[in-house]
Amino acid sequence: MNLRKKQVNTYDIAIIGAGINGCSLAHALHQQGQKVLVIEQNSIASGGSGAAGAFINPKISKAGELKELIEEAYVFSLEFYTKYFNEHTTTAPLLHISKYENDNAKVEYFKAHTPLQTSDIPSSLQSQLKPHALSFSSVYLKDNAIVEAKDICEDMLEGIDIVYEKVEKLKYIDGFYSLGNSRTKKVILCTGAYEAVLELDYISLRRIYGQRCEIKSSTQMQASLHHEVSVSVTKKNGCIAIGASHYLKKDEVPKNEEGAQELISLAQKSIELKDIEVLNVFTGMRAGSNDYLPLLGPLVDISKSLALDPRASKAEKEASLSYIKDVYMMNGVGGYGFVLAPYLASLLCAHLVHNKALPEFLEPKRFYYRQAKKRGQK
Ligand SMILES: Cc1cc2nc3c(=O)[nH]c(=O)nc-3n(C[C@H](O)[C@H](O)[C@H](O)COP(=O)(O)OP(=O)(O)OC[C@H]3O[C@@H](n4cnc5c(N)ncnc54)[C@H](O)[C@@H]3O)c2cc1C
Repeated sequence: MNLRKKQVNTYDIAIIGAGINGCSLAHALHQQGQKVLVIEQNSIASGGSGAAGAFINPKISKAGELKELIEEAYVFSLEFYTKYFNEHTTTAPLLHISKYENDNAKVEYFKAHTPLQTSDIPSSLQSQLKPHALSFSSVYLKDNAIVEAKDICEDMLEGIDIVYEKVEKLKYIDGFYSLGNSRTKKVILCTGAYEAVLELDYISLRRIYGQRCEIKSSTQMQASLHHEVSVSVTKKNGCIAIGASHYLKKDEVPKNEEGAQELISLAQKSIELKDIEVLNVFTGMRAGSNDYLPLLGPLVDISKSLALDPRASKAEKEASLSYIKDVYMMNGVGGYGFVLAPYLASLLCAHLVHNKALPEFLEPKRFYYRQAKKRGQK
């Protein structure tokens, strides 16, 4: 009989999910000397992240909380990817053309107010565009990038322990969360659009499915182009990415070959791509919150928190909150996961390691307040 106890590995922080959110956070925490474990049910970037373009661009719209957040993250992430993962990053300008006539005003507003560097469309690019593309408002941004999604996620986890298994639920025993052969003080849920590990009925995430294809073409793309779909610059690896389509239901997603043809014909409305060879098609789902802002921070335990009186002051509401012990969420990044993740990871890392406050408008508790208000009014 073997009486030796199984060795239990102890971690400061376990991250569930190895998409761009989980990988960016693991990377940031590891850099700060934290002992990190990543737990992934499938393989690295096998979820929405593996399907992503992944374009690093600002949100071309009028002013607003989400636009400002994405712009701050875009500036941060552009520098981050170029500095740390340059091999998998292609920098190039971006020509954004509005998709509908109704959006022309938004693009013009953005162009007039943005602090980002813009210029006229170079004549060599202009001459490649089809009349359809030239009939809408556009903005030419000098600094933009596209990254190789899977390669970046894999490189971010270098030197970090990873276990491949599905986490079914969280068990808290003697001050630690027990996860297989490991235990950890803190847990971060980076599970994207997948089934929640915890029942959090005050948070609902919308799932959107999408496809991206990678092609080779004899046409040399000098810049990325966002119009009917997003078409990348010819990347460092010689490929062009085209994406993304959007579907609300899984059964609406076309088969790979059909999906690629759909994406290519949308791209061809704006620019001629010659001698196309389709290399790969990726399908994935992304998760968006109900107010489109990410979810970043500790999770409220709704059953333990007091029912809130809708007339209670902010301080009273805050005082009545009870959190699920040391469990956090980083999710709801919608179609901007690769833009937002490195920036959000830096904020959450500073909170976890240096106790810095998180931006309140990103904390999941905002949805708890809304739910409690609804319940209080019933
Ligand atoms: C087609 C397409 C194109 C896109 N293009 C862009 C783009 O150009 N630019 C951009 O910024 N964003 C883009 N996005 C959005 C971006 O991909 C997402 O915002 C991002 O991938 C979300 O990352 P995530 O880490 O939250 O989720 P995911 O990448 O889905 O990762 C979640 C991970 O958690 C794992 N997991 C879930 N539950 C468990 C469990 N119980 N136990 C263990 N593991 C678990 C999953 O297996 C998965 O690997 C695109 C998305 C799609 C679908």
